[in-house]
Amino acid sequence: MAAAIEPSVGEKKSLEDLEAKALEIIKAHGDEGIYQHELWKTLGLDSREGSRLALRLLKKGLITREPTVHKGRRTYKLFIAKRSKQAVTIDIKIGSVIEVPCFSCKNLERCHNGGFFDPTTCPVLANWLAAKIARLKQAMAV
Ligand code: SF4
Repeated sequence: MAAAIEPSVGEKKSLEDLEAKALEIIKAHGDEGIYQHELWKTLGLDSREGSRLALRLLKKGLITREPTVHKGRRTYKLFIAKRSKQAVTIDIKIGSVIEVPCFSCKNLERCHNGGFFDPTTCPVLANWLAAKIARLKQAMAV
C-alpha cells in the first residue's frame, strides 16, 4: 500500500492561497459560473492541477459544478456553493433529554454560570441527576 505524501506547511499555505484565489474568481462569476478550464488558465495551472483544485473545493463543499459542453467539449461549470440554500437535517432523539428539568424550568432564560440561577449549584438539577444516576446504578446491578 502506498503511503500518502503530506504537503509541507509551506505547500499547505500555497494550496490555501490558491484555493482562496480560485474561490474569489468563481464568486466573481456569480450565477453564470465559470468554465473549469477558464479557472485553470486564470490561475496559471495546467488541467491536472486545475482538476485537483476543483475536486478539493468540491470535497470541502465550497463549490458546486455542473457538467456542460463548451465548443463541442465536455467540461464543467463551477459555482460557489450556496450554503444557506442547502438543507440541513439534524436527527435529535428528544426522549433522552425531555425529562431534564431545565427544559420546563421557568428560570431557564436567567440561568447561567455565576448567576443567581446557576446550573452548577441548582438543587433541582442536582436532585434530578442524583435520581438518574441512582436509577442507572440500580439497572446495572440487575
Ligand atoms: S439548572 Fe436549575 S435553575 Fe437552571 S434551568 Fe436548570 S432547573 Fe432551572
